[in-house]
Amino acid sequence: MAREQQGEEVRWANRVREAGLRATRPRILVLATLRRVGGHRTADDVLSFLNEADASLSRGTVYKVLNDLAAAELVMQADHGPGATLYEIADEWHHHFVCRSCGVVIDIPCYVGSKPCLDTDLPGAEVDEAQVIVRGRCPVCVADDGAVA
Ligand SMILES: [Zn+2]
Ligand SMILES: [Zn+2]
Repeated sequence: MAREQQGEEVRWANRVREAGLRATRPRILVLATLRRVGGHRTADDVLSFLNEADASLSRGTVYKVLNDLAAAELVMQADHGPGATLYEIADEWHHHFVCRSCGVVIDIPCYVGSKPCLDTDLPGAEVDEAQVIVRGRCPVCVADDGAVA
């Protein structure tokens, strides 16, 4: 287990360097944590997962590290409307479905697969990213309603 973890840390260190950042321990810890827990997480979520794993970083450090990693495109900020910023490991470019009932955020594929996947007719503008939020009710909420009826 420990050896596996070390291998993962080396891989993240390489990714961080390839992105042009110094491979600091906080950056590697935050990336490894986001990968381990998966999904879409706030900075405070990441902070508490780190605390549970006895790898505590200060709140300020976690916020700053997430910002740096997002700027380097190692981490993606998942657009989900109002509320705390949600971060996830930047794998394939994708969009999000947000459930109006329970608030769950679910990945949905982007048919283009890289950004910007939509252009705009705004004259003179340069588009670098288009994140689509699809809203509705998630399969769990729809099924719950069915059960009541
Ligand atoms: Zn739902
Ligand atoms: Zn996502």
